[in-house]
Amino acid sequence: MIRPTQISIPTLVRVKPGALDRLGAYLSRGGHRKAAVLVSKGLAAPLPDRAAESLKHAGVEPAAWVEVADNDLESAARLFADLPKGVTAVVGVGGGKALDVAKYVGFLGRLPYYAVPTSLSNDGFCSPQSSLTIRGRRRSLPAALPFGVVVDTAVCRDAPRVLTVSGVGDLVAKFTAVRDWKLAFHAVGEPVNDFAALMSDGTIYSFLSHAAFDLEGVRLLATALLLNGIAMEVCGSSRPASGSEHLISHALDATSARPRLHGLQVGVAAYLMSLLQRENTDRIVALFDATRFWDAIAADPFSRAEWRVAIKTAPSIKDGYYTVLSAGGALAEAERLLATDPRLAPCFVD
Ligand SMILES: [Zn+2]
Repeated sequence: MIRPTQISIPTLVRVKPGALDRLGAYLSRGGHRKAAVLVSKGLAAPLPDRAAESLKHAGVEPAAWVEVADNDLESAARLFADLPKGVTAVVGVGGGKALDVAKYVGFLGRLPYYAVPTSLSNDGFCSPQSSLTIRGRRRSLPAALPFGVVVDTAVCRDAPRVLTVSGVGDLVAKFTAVRDWKLAFHAVGEPVNDFAALMSDGTIYSFLSHAAFDLEGVRLLATALLLNGIAMEVCGSSRPASGSEHLISHALDATSARPRLHGLQVGVAAYLMSLLQRENTDRIVALFDATRFWDAIAADPFSRAEWRVAIKTAPSIKDGYYTVLSAGGALAEAERLLATDPRLAPCFVD
């Protein structure tokens, strides 16, 4: 049976140097005169001033200007309830938490949301979910894709390197996620949306062609992460972006004494899962070598004991979510690789 699908994708996409200074112009062109702006608390100067200046210059009033420190559902609901009258757009500027909260406020208010990430540490800036905490636990809540995505590639290039490296980790996860999806089809008949899988898989190759952190590399990384978010919207699930490697990362978030950046956890887990899947390992290694991903991990290695627990916990994180870890003997094999794979050795301490 073919089910009719209706999706909404970003209408405005700007990925270029200097895009932050054009934010006001993009809003004004969209007919907005009053916007609510949610900015990451502690966002490095002069980025907040540049955003404010561009709004002022374009005659867009920031009717609310809020610094976001927490991404709990209660804060998002309160911000929605306090939206000033006449606000016609919600803007999120900065990193993960501010963008997740702004996305959810826009979703609750049925208002167009403009995502302005200032770093590329994961694919969340253009995904149809908001990652919020409920009673202290991280949850992925259904939301909507942004109306506008404004990525200033010069700003993202100059962000702390570990954040961009983390984005590479979240990107390579698409190899293992798509492979897990296909394994789920063969093992339990889970339908695969070919187009979403194709989009997700294809995005990595464009970055592979120029895996560097200059303006062009950052442009390709941003575009790839953005298209991953759209792939999730196309099929209505997180399958094209999230497989066994994400389950391990979720387990670490829940059990580790000090969870690390999402993309760093997911990237190492993707490498490990690619060994189990016997596919794409060479491509992942090529990307990790080119971007010095390994160095970022070795600078602050993971705990091997915590990973052993996370791998065991991973298959029970999401009900009915078949991945390579669901296959017989997979957990033992993953543990063996964790202890013996030479590339993983510098990534862990006992
Ligand atoms: Zn991710």
